[in-house]
Amino acid sequence: MKTYRQIVCDLRQQYPEGEAQALARWLCEECFGLSQTDILLDKDNDLSADSIAKSKEIVQRLLRHEPIQYILGYTTFCGHRFHTAPGALIPRPETEQLVNLILESNKSQRPHILDVGTGTGCIALSLALGLPEASVTAWDVSDEALVVARQNTELFPDAKVVFEKTDILSPPNDDRRWDVIVSNPPYVRRCESTEMDSNVLDYEPHLALFVSDDDPLLFYRAIAGYASKHLQKDGQLWFEINQYLGKETAHLIEEYGFADVQVLKDGFGHDRFIKCIR
Ligand code: GLN
Repeated sequence: MKTYRQIVCDLRQQYPEGEAQALARWLCEECFGLSQTDILLDKDNDLSADSIAKSKEIVQRLLRHEPIQYILGYTTFCGHRFHTAPGALIPRPETEQLVNLILESNKSQRPHILDVGTGTGCIALSLALGLPEASVTAWDVSDEALVVARQNTELFPDAKVVFEKTDILSPPNDDRRWDVIVSNPPYVRRCESTEMDSNVLDYEPHLALFVSDDDPLLFYRAIAGYASKHLQKDGQLWFEINQYLGKETAHLIEEYGFADVQVLKDGFGHDRFIKCIR
């Protein structure tokens, strides 16, 4: 446990114990190919100088609060390993829950699905992998995010997703119709940034995170407006939402004529998702 203990000890300068241990386990796996059991069996006591040097460099970056997912270039989401890079938000566990809810509601269907503001493509690709009969389109306004998303499509050749550069604030006025529209748009108000950790604030794309304090539901309005025309009758609209704005977001969506608007909680008990029907 020597090297593992040393890494935990270094990381404790900036991270609480539990997080330092989790990061150290991830690092030992990445740099030395060692599992938790290997660590317990002291297999980390005799490692190559190269791998130790690599781990030290990563520890230095972690001490500057750079997210490990950007350092290593990947994260796991819905059981799949996604490429991550600073042009797109790091996929979050809450969003896995959103994908699982959508998969549950669309079993044995062949839906046309649209993901608005796809980022890494984690929602779109996970839905395509979970619903092989579905056809999935994903939009983002950011060229950098689309680069990351397209790199992810190469990792999952079985997932059929079409990525398009589209700004939902000026959406296409065509005759496409969708059975499911999903979005995890930017929803963090600037005033909430004081509560955020520097690993998010200093490294993740603000375009994907923030909305102004004056108009925090801008994207929900745009997406609900688009969906009110382009979602099939009885089609589903799914959102990830700001936990502090559950009521306001639900109310706005009702104003666009959607039925059965439900606010659902994430694993922390926070209002985090909305499901509704056209
Ligand atoms: N849940 C993310 C966070 O708190 C924000 C995601 C978003 O803005 N869509 O960092």
